[in-house]
Amino acid sequence: MIDVVDAPALAQEIVGAIRRVVGPAPVALHEPRFCGNEWRYVKACLDSSVVSSVGSFVDRFEADLAEYTGAKFAVAVVNGTAALHVALRLAGVRPGDEVLLPALTFAATANAVIYCGAIPHFVDSEERTLGMDPAALRDYLRTVTDVGRDHCVNRSTGRIIRAVVPMHTFGHPVDIEAIVATARDFHLAVVEDAAESLGSTVCGQHTGTFGALGTLSFNGNKTITTGGGGAILTNDRDIARRAKHLTTTAKVPHRWEYRHDEIGFNYRMPNLNAALGCAQLEQLPGFLSAQRRLFRRYSDAFANFREMHVMAEPPGCTSNYWLQTLVLDATVAGERDTVLAVSNDAGIMTRPAWVLMHRLRQFEGCPRMDLRVAESLESRLINLPSSPHLVAMDS
Ligand SMILES: *Cc1c(COP(=O)(O)O)cnc(C)c1O
Repeated sequence: MIDVVDAPALAQEIVGAIRRVVGPAPVALHEPRFCGNEWRYVKACLDSSVVSSVGSFVDRFEADLAEYTGAKFAVAVVNGTAALHVALRLAGVRPGDEVLLPALTFAATANAVIYCGAIPHFVDSEERTLGMDPAALRDYLRTVTDVGRDHCVNRSTGRIIRAVVPMHTFGHPVDIEAIVATARDFHLAVVEDAAESLGSTVCGQHTGTFGALGTLSFNGNKTITTGGGGAILTNDRDIARRAKHLTTTAKVPHRWEYRHDEIGFNYRMPNLNAALGCAQLEQLPGFLSAQRRLFRRYSDAFANFREMHVMAEPPGCTSNYWLQTLVLDATVAGERDTVLAVSNDAGIMTRPAWVLMHRLRQFEGCPRMDLRVAESLESRLINLPSSPHLVAMDS
């Protein structure tokens, strides 16, 4: 334990500023809020006794998600990782392919690539969005790949680079249009990991709808939750049909016959979880405005700190402000661990960014470009308490 009074002055001041925003401890990093129709819909689901694989709440949740995001189709699944796994499969990723993804991401993005028998290939981030750097990606691909008529080969491994998975970090939209343009030039499929960015848009278009497929997560710590859950977004009717088929054990619909026409997955979202999701989605606009107000409070609280800033949405974008993030300048990066220790000891949960994927033993040998920005960011980011209920929902 580091006693608050013994900690360096700057770390104490930072924790003091956080405390003024969040109020008395204990304060979690991100807690769900159930103040709408959750009890009503879950009870209706139980009363119907249709709690499992099929049911009207699943259909309704999928329709509501498609309408909200503007995607033509949404397929609800058990979690965001499963959504990524199937989305990559449907994007054409095959065993032995390489898939580009940011080193600065949650492990699920890289795990899903491995589930396909493919090899993660790590890309650097940019400071402006915290997401994949499109200019660095383009320069890198120009130097290390050979581009054929319809595919792109990593010259040093001889493997096909099949897809790119940009991720919208902490809800802040990545420069998706530039990444899509690069992907087109190098014949890469785009699968957007929008697990963190429900409600975030680029020029008014919802994240997760720019690539061939996009994926969402409704884990307990995300902007809305179904307990556990995820979804695949696409504008392509055939891909949507394939997604539904693969995630429902590849069973051929029939009144009594059990025939499966390929190896499928049991990745369906249960009706009970979808009932919760329908109620949560109704409250999404309220959550988004609360998370935005919380951002303003943190920005005000840190306005007079010279060597750091609270991460703001990139120009032209709307962020859902899922996880509020304090970005330290390199000059004070050494304070990060003290701030984490002091705040967590005081019952205010803060955390660093994820350990970068290429530093994890299981991904150590994977190909990667120079990751200097991601490595610098990793040492300077602190996620702050971000629950919407930290600001009065109606003020
Ligand atoms: C939450 C998350 C996922 C999916 O997580 P699940 O817990 O499987 O729903 C995937 N990628 C990122 C970046 C995430 O934050």
